[in-house]
Amino acid sequence: MTAAVLYGKEDLKIEKVPIPRVGDGEILVKVQVALTCGTDLKVYQRGYHARMIVPPALFGHELAGVIEEVGAGVNGFKTGMRVVALNSAPCQMCFYCSKHQENLCEDLLFNNGAYAEYIRVPRRIVEANMLVIPANVSFEDAAMTEPLACVLRGLHETGVEIGDTVTIIGGGPIGLMFVQVARAIGCNVISVVKRDEQVQAAKQMGAHEIVQTTKVPNVVDAVRALSPQKRGCDVVIEAVGRQEAWEWSVDMVRKGGTVNFFGGPAAGTKVELDTNRLHYGDITLKASFHHTPATCRTALEIVTSGSFKCAEYITGRAILADVPDLFARMMTRTSDSRDIKTAVFPSGVPQ
Ligand SMILES: [Zn+2]
Ligand SMILES: [Zn+2]
Repeated sequence: MTAAVLYGKEDLKIEKVPIPRVGDGEILVKVQVALTCGTDLKVYQRGYHARMIVPPALFGHELAGVIEEVGAGVNGFKTGMRVVALNSAPCQMCFYCSKHQENLCEDLLFNNGAYAEYIRVPRRIVEANMLVIPANVSFEDAAMTEPLACVLRGLHETGVEIGDTVTIIGGGPIGLMFVQVARAIGCNVISVVKRDEQVQAAKQMGAHEIVQTTKVPNVVDAVRALSPQKRGCDVVIEAVGRQEAWEWSVDMVRKGGTVNFFGGPAAGTKVELDTNRLHYGDITLKASFHHTPATCRTALEIVTSGSFKCAEYITGRAILADVPDLFARMMTRTSDSRDIKTAVFPSGVPQ
């Protein structure tokens, strides 16, 4: 089969590899669509991901497809079913799983290889995190389950209230999803973005106010000026994963407010925070990582309900052969590029 193989930093190739063989409890899925994701771009840029993938490896993790083959002993799934196979599954046995913090599972099993004609889904994901796609939901929309699940969990963990002023730093797919969900649950949303195109996208997703980092002398002042009585925001969510943005977050939040460092910077990154502001301002700092089986199910339900705008996130369509160029291009995005997510179709772009 044809598949994208990641060899290291900015080294991605399209190759012919054997179709994975399924063992007991495993399933082979014929990929109908795989979506590009900021995490994949980060992995491509850095050449590794501490927990998710060690090159050389099959690449890509947001997908939807049709079951091609079912291994011995699988219950509940049959050939021909339309499914979303999530990119990980917890062990359900360790300390963290017993505390309902499955995202922190000591043995979280990751699966990559969505940019390929077929993907093998390991037993644990089959059992915990493989979901049947309802007939009215397209493969493209269903593939949004994974990133949306991370966002839902992140917002829930942050403890946002209806009416809160929530600032979201970052205009990538995850930042935009936060904007849309925060708006939907009744928050006053300020979006902080960099590129011109992201200003439009943030508006479309429902941001009440937008601060473009390249157009203001001081981002923190610009955001605070938009908050009620200029006191700062109730909640700030950092969805960029950069040191500077982590530091802005703490300076934008109001006394008694909460910051969620959702974006993960490169290993070894240190930030400087004002301890006085944190302590006497009684500021809560949180960081959310990943999803749980429960949030994955909720995400697919929201997609199924039709209340989440999925189509707006998919700004490009491609085939497998385009994937290396696609990532190379994402590295050099200019301020007028329109990319949010690209849908990759291993069997050819549908007409
Ligand atoms: Zn993702
Ligand atoms: Zn576990």
